[in-house]
Formats: sequence, structure tokens, C-alpha cells
Amino acid sequence: MIHVIGGGLAGSEAAWQAAGQGVSVTIHEMRPVRPTAVHKTDGLAELVCSNSFRGDKLDNAVGLLKEEMRRLGSLIMCAADAARVPAGAALAVDRVVFSQRVTEALSRHPLITISRDEVPAIPAPGPGPVIIATGPLTSDALSASIREFVGSDHLAFYDAISPIVLADTIDMSKVFRASRWNRSLRGAGAAGAAGVTGAAGGAGADVACGVDDGQGDYLNCPLTKAEYEVLYRAIVTAESATVHDFDNTKFFEGCLPIEVMAHRGVDTLRFGPMKPVGLTDPRTGRFPYAVVQLRQDTLAGDHFSLVGFQTQLKWGEQARILRMIPGLEQAEFVRFGMVHRNTFINGPTVLRQTWQTRRRPDLFFAGQVSGVEGYVESAASGLLAGRNAAALVQERPPSAPPRTTAIGALAYYASHANPTTYQPSNITHGIIAPLDNPPRDKARKKALIAERALAELDKWINDPQKTQNSQHTQHTQHTHHTHQDIQEIQDSPAISIQNVHNTQSARVALDTASAPGRRDVKNDSVSSVSSVDRNSVG
Ligand SMILES: Cc1cc2nc3c(=O)[nH]c(=O)nc-3n(C[C@H](O)[C@H](O)[C@H](O)COP(=O)(O)OP(=O)(O)OC[C@H]3O[C@@H](n4cnc5c(N)ncnc54)[C@H](O)[C@@H]3O)c2cc1C
Repeated sequence: MIHVIGGGLAGSEAAWQAAGQGVSVTIHEMRPVRPTAVHKTDGLAELVCSNSFRGDKLDNAVGLLKEEMRRLGSLIMCAADAARVPAGAALAVDRVVFSQRVTEALSRHPLITISRDEVPAIPAPGPGPVIIATGPLTSDALSASIREFVGSDHLAFYDAISPIVLADTIDMSKVFRASRWNRSLRGAGAAGAAGVTGAAGGAGADVACGVDDGQGDYLNCPLTKAEYEVLYRAIVTAESATVHDFDNTKFFEGCLPIEVMAHRGVDTLRFGPMKPVGLTDPRTGRFPYAVVQLRQDTLAGDHFSLVGFQTQLKWGEQARILRMIPGLEQAEFVRFGMVHRNTFINGPTVLRQTWQTRRRPDLFFAGQVSGVEGYVESAASGLLAGRNAAALVQERPPSAPPRTTAIGALAYYASHANPTTYQPSNITHGIIAPLDNPPRDKARKKALIAERALAELDKWINDPQKTQNSQHTQHTQHTHHTHQDIQEIQDSPAISIQNVHNTQSARVALDTASAPGRRDVKNDSVSSVSSVDRNSVG
């Protein structure tokens, strides 16, 4: 029996995948017994904000990730495809239909039990693996338990994210490379758990949010007085995104959104993240009036983040305003800035590539709490965690697809990125292993990356242990739900599920009224987890 804590995007997919391997699963979802500040229903896989799963073409990384998930029998992708609404090249869904589809499919599955209870602590090692998929709004009690398990430096409660720009869209003729005072402060306390200290601040928070940490890989966009004043006016008059009360309270002083700083006075930014001192522009031999610094993103060498530019401005406004910065006129943004409540662990210090924790192989993290960003990425991590938890139950070695695939790259990033500057990431081409001989043409390059990824994924599906990132050498074949299985589960009140097990097909009669393992236990907070000791953090 596997216990999945949290019935969001990640937990739902994890449960589905594990059950698809023939293992019993209990999903513990605390809603509606204990609501969160943003969820509005008691449905599983509720989309808390946008209804978009972003791009759906193979030429973007999230489109590739979706296709890989479809090939792995993803419930989330199948429900999303079924709930699709017109949105051009993106996959957007009717959020009600989407959540209903997921909830129904899981409720009807004979191996899945849904228990409506809050799990207040990480269960002790017990009869089966545990997957924590409790999302950015993990309940307070469980957050405390997670903090005890991972260490307080490795759990964040707040996300202050600066926008990230694609390197080859920066106009290099307008920027200069330099580190403040030409010196490295590294080793003098600069390396805190950046972004992992959260609202409470602490060592490293200012490094993450506000200033040059002197490591020498900065691109500097210099601004004249006139350019600075235009930018300042644009920031103070821009429209902010709607924020929830809990996101609007106390910001950590070292991580203030740029618009909050700008509202404090015309020079505040110039004395904060846009501070020019120590940065000599080689073309003038002087410090500029103000500067925007771009720091290379750790793993993704072709991405640069705008240092200290965390913001709650609307994304359209961010695009408009940030393109006023010299050198960024044609910038393409990989991710826009955000400031919001987000509980997440420092993946690289805690996780293996299989989404197991290093300290306890029977304990997995998946979804936003594991340190990924976004609906699709959360579901993708749940997909692998669910499969690997089932592998443990069946005494098969867990494994992860190679870094040449999008889903493998995400797992690699969450477990191998630089822990001192770790920030949750969307899937991007920058974290997928580069091509050996990339062509110059960008469209061709992306097409080749997708082609390689799908070929390698197919190899991994057929033989997970032989691929480069697998952990063991033993050969075993996985079972998984086919796309058709999902359709059948969703569409029919009395149906058959076809599970593929090697070459053998097993038809499992599923009558929703009599399915033996099926129940939706409302308010069953104690008895349903009685087999799991909830008091220990291992
Ligand atoms: C305000 C806000 C807006 C966002 N907007 C977007 C967006 O537009 N697009 C996007 O891609 N991402 C967005 N995100 C990120 C988004 O939350 C994730 O992409 C996605 O929901 C993560 O999926 P998940 O399964 O990890 O978490 P969730 O979908 O949040 O699921 C976690 C589940 O765990 C349950 N739970 C929590 N604690 C416990 C407990 N102790 N016991 C039992 N159950 C528990 C919760 O009730 C919840 O149902 C936003 C996040 C926030 C906070």
C-alpha cells in the first residue's frame, strides 16, 4: 500500500501511476475538512489560478514534457486533453470539467482509496512508501514536520522569483560583463540557501534577491539618468497582479518586489538592486547611473535571471517594462517574476533523481513542494514518484528517464542543481541535456531535441534499467495505464480497464458500484491512516 499525501496535480498523477502498476494506493486529501487559502472546491487536481497548461507544441519544452507524459499514460494529460478549450497553441482547460475527470477516474479505480483527512506529520517508515505531494500551501502541521525532516535551512515558505531571460535574446552590444569591484565574495558567506530561507530571511536571502554576489558571471545593463527615470515611472504606474491576502502581508526586506521599492522613492531602486557602484562600464570608464544585473542561471547556461527583480506586476506589464532596459529590447522571457506563498524543499539537498529522499528511500516528494514550478511540472514529478513508489513495493529498482528527455531533465534539475541558489523551475530547454552537435537554426535545434527526447523516452519505457540515469542494472518491465484505459475509466460507469503487463493484457472488470477497493472516505481523519505511524519524522 502506498500513501499519497495531497490530492492535487502531483498526488493525483502519482496515485494513478502507482495503481496502474497494480499497487494499492490511499490518497489523503485534507479538503474539504481543512481548506486552503486558494482552493475553492473539494475536487482533486483543482487548478488554483490560471486554466492554462501552457504551450502544446513540441517546439517548446513544456509541449515536449506533455507529449512525454501522454506516452507514460498520464491521467492529468488525458483529463486536460478531454477538458480542452480553444487557446491557440496552448493547452487550456475548462477547470471544472478537468477536476471532475480526474476525481472520477481516481474514485472509480479499484486500487485507489480517497481519504479526506489532513496528515499532520510525515509518517514513520512503515508498511509502504509515502509520497508527499501537498503543494505550495502544505498545511502548517505537516510543514513543521517536513522542516524537522529536511532541516530548517532547506524548506522555504515564500517564493520571490525574478524574471528569467533567454541569453541569445539579449543585445550583447549594449551590456558589459563584470562583477562588482571585480572581486569574488564567494566563500565569505555569500552562499546561503538562497531563496530557501523564505519570508523569514536569513543567510543568503539577500544574495538570492537583491545584490551581486560577486561571482563574476554578470551581464550588466547600464542605464543613463533619463533611461532610469523612464523605467522608474513605468514601474510605479504599472498594473500589479491580483494577490491573495496571505501574499500581501509582510515581505522579507531583502526580497521586496521592485514596485514596492519604487513606491518608496525615486532613488530606492538605484540604491538597491540597480546599484551601479563597483561596476565600471568599459565603454565610459565610469560607473553607470544605474544598472540591471543579469546572473547566469546555475544549470541552464542559456538563461539569465534579473538580479533582485522579483515582482508582482502582471506578466504583460513585466514584458513591456523589462524591455525598456538597455539590452533587453528584444528579450524573450523564460519565466516572469513572482512573489507568493510557496512551501518547497531544497530539492538538490534532499532528493534523488527518482524523487525519493536521500535519507529515506521509502519517502518521496512530488509536485510544487518538491521544488518544481507549474501544473505540468508538478504532475510530471508525481508521475515518476508514483511509478517509483510502486517499483519499491514490487521490489523493482526505481529509475528516472535520462536528461535528454524533458521529464528526466526536470528530475535531474530538482536533484542536481546548485543547492545554494536553488529555485523551483519550469521545464525549459536550458535544463534538458544539450545536443552534441546543435544546428544553428533554432527551430531545427528544438525539433532535434524533441525527436531525441521521444526516442530516448521510448527506450526507457521499454527498458528503464538500461538508460543512463537508472540506478540499478536489473531488467524489469513496467506496467502502465494506456491512454485508452483512462478514457474508459472516465467515460463509462461500468467498464473495463486494460493494463498492459509486458506483452500480456489483463482486463480488470470495474463496476463502479461494486469495485472492492473504491471508497471516498469523508472526514475519516484517524482510522484511514491508522496503519501509518504519523508521529515520527524518521
Ligand atoms: C496563488 C497561487 C497561484 C498559482 N498559479 C499558478 C498558475 O497559474 N499556473 C501554474 O502552473 N501554477 C500556479 N501555481 C503553482 C501551483 O500551485 C502548482 O503549479 C500546482 O498546483 C502544484 O500542484 P501540487 O499537486 O504540487 O499542489 P496542489 O495542486 O496545491 O495540491 C496539493 C494538495 O495537498 C493538499 N494538502 C495540503 N496539506 C495537506 C495535508 N497535510 N494533508 C492532506 N492534504 C494536504 C491540498 O489541499 C491540495 O489539494 C500557483 C500557486 C499559488 C499558491
